Amino acid sequence: MKIKNYINGKLVDPQSGKHLDIINPATGKVYGTIPDSDARDVALATEAAKAAFPEWSKTSAAERSRIMLKVSDLIGENLDRFALAESTDNGKPVWLAKSVDIPRARDNFAFYATAILHESSETHSMGEVGFNYTLRQPIGVAGCISPWNLPLYLFTWKIAPALASGNTVVAKPSEITPATAFLLSELCIEAGMPAGVLNIVHGLGQKVGAAISEHPDIPMISFTGGTQTGATIARVAAPMFKKLSLELGGKNPNIIFADCDFDDMLKTTVRSSFANQGQICLCGSRIFVERPIYEKFKNAFVERVSAMKVGAPTDEKTKVGAVVSEPHMEKVLSYVRLAKEEGGTVLCGGERVILDGEFKDGFYISPTIIEGLDYNCRTNQEEIFGPVVTITPFDTEEEVLMMANSTKYGLAATMWTSNLKRAHRMANNLHMGIVWINCWLLRDLRTPFGGVKESGVGREGGFEALNFFTEPKNVCVKL
Ligand code: NDP
Repeated sequence: MKIKNYINGKLVDPQSGKHLDIINPATGKVYGTIPDSDARDVALATEAAKAAFPEWSKTSAAERSRIMLKVSDLIGENLDRFALAESTDNGKPVWLAKSVDIPRARDNFAFYATAILHESSETHSMGEVGFNYTLRQPIGVAGCISPWNLPLYLFTWKIAPALASGNTVVAKPSEITPATAFLLSELCIEAGMPAGVLNIVHGLGQKVGAAISEHPDIPMISFTGGTQTGATIARVAAPMFKKLSLELGGKNPNIIFADCDFDDMLKTTVRSSFANQGQICLCGSRIFVERPIYEKFKNAFVERVSAMKVGAPTDEKTKVGAVVSEPHMEKVLSYVRLAKEEGGTVLCGGERVILDGEFKDGFYISPTIIEGLDYNCRTNQEEIFGPVVTITPFDTEEEVLMMANSTKYGLAATMWTSNLKRAHRMANNLHMGIVWINCWLLRDLRTPFGGVKESGVGREGGFEALNFFTEPKNVCVKL
C-alpha cells in the first residue's frame, strides 16, 4: 500500500520525496509506506485550507450536510475494506473494526452532518431596552491530530464537527495507523468535497504534528493522544493564543460493589479491561472489588480471561489481537516486570504470545491480571495502555473513592452497584469527566466527552465540539 498526502483535493507525494515503512503488527512485517512529510507539506495544506475557507464557511449548512452524508454513506458501503485496512494497520480483530471502529466513523460524519441542520443560537433580551443575539461563526483552519488506538473513529470524531461547522481542516493521523485516513481521502474526492476543505498530511508527530501546532494560520488545535504530547503542543500553541482541545491519557477505575449484578458486571468487565487489547483510553485498568466478593470475582475473572483466544486478527474467534507495535509491546511487558518488582502477583497472562506461521513475528500479549499491589505504586498510577489490569480489594466507599481519585488522570470511571443512592453519591464525588453506572462504553454522541486533571482540557461530543470549532459573537441591539 502506497499512501499519499491529500492536499488541495489531490493525492500527492511529500515534498521531501521520502517515505516511511508501515508495519502490520499482526505479522511484524512491512506492508506499505507513508509520506515522510514535513513543515513544507503542512504549509501547502494550510495554504489550500485557507484558500478554501471563505467559500466553505459560506456554503449553506444543507449543502455541507449533503456532502458529509455522502462521505458517511461511502464509508458504510466500504465497511469491509475499511475494517480490513484498520485491522492490518493496528492489529485489532477484523470483527471489532467491522462492528465498532468503522461504523462509528460513518456515524461521526452522519451525526455532525445532521446536527448542523438543527442548530440554533441564543438571544438575551433586555426588555424594552434592547436585546443581544449570539452568532456562532467558523474560525478558519482547524488542526486535527489523532492517535493510533481507534484510528478512523477518533480521526473523524474531530474532522466531522470541524468541517460541519464551516471550518477547513489540516489533519494528521498517527504515523503508525495511517491507512483508513488515506482511504477516507479517496472517498472525499468521490463525494465531491471541494478542494482544500479537508487536507490530510501523513508523517511523524515531531515533524508534521509539530508543524501543525506551530503554524500561525492554524488558530485551533484539536488533539487526542498522550499527556506528554498534549503538554508539548500546549507549550507551543498557548503563547500563540490558539484554541485548544486536548483529549489525553487515563488510568480509569472500575469499581465493583458486592451488591452488583454479578454476571452482567463480569461479562462487561472482561470487555472493559481487554477490548482492543486494552488500548482504549476508556478501558478500566484498575479494578477495585468490595471484599465480600473479592475471591469469587477473582476466580471467575481469571477463568474467563484465561480462556480468551489470543490470535490472528483475521480469525473470527480471536478475542485479543496484536498490540500496535513492537515498542509498545515492550513498554507493556516492562510494566508487567515492574508490577512484579513492586510486589504484585501475576494471576494470568503477562507474556508475549508467539503464534504460528505468518503471524509468528506479530506483537501479541496474553491478557494479564495482577493482584497484590498498593493503590499508589507506579503500576497503579501510570498509564499502561495495553491488556494489563490490576485487582484490589476495598472495604468502604470512602476508601475506594480515595483510591479511584488518587491518580493524576481523571478520564472515566465505571461503577457496579444496585444501590441507587450510593451510585449517584459516588458519581458526584468521582473526579472524572465520564462515569458509567452498571455499563461501560455505552455511548450517546450528544454527550460531553473528555477528562479532568491530566486527562485533558475541553470536551468533545455533541454541541461541545460544534462550540469548540466556532467563535461566539455577541451582537447587541438597542431598541
Ligand atoms: P501520542 O501522543 O504519541 O500521539 C498522538 C498523535 O500526536 C499522533 O498523531 C502523533 O504522531 C502526534 N504527535 C506526536 N508528537 C507530536 C508533537 N510533538 N506535536 C504534535 N503532534 C505529535 O499518542 P498515541 O498515538 O501513542 O496514543 C495513545 C495515547 O492516546 C494514550 O495516552 C491514550 O490514553 C490517549 N488517548 C486518549 C483519548 C481520549 O479521548 N482522552 C482517546 C484515545 C487515546 P505519531 O503517531 O507520528 O507519533
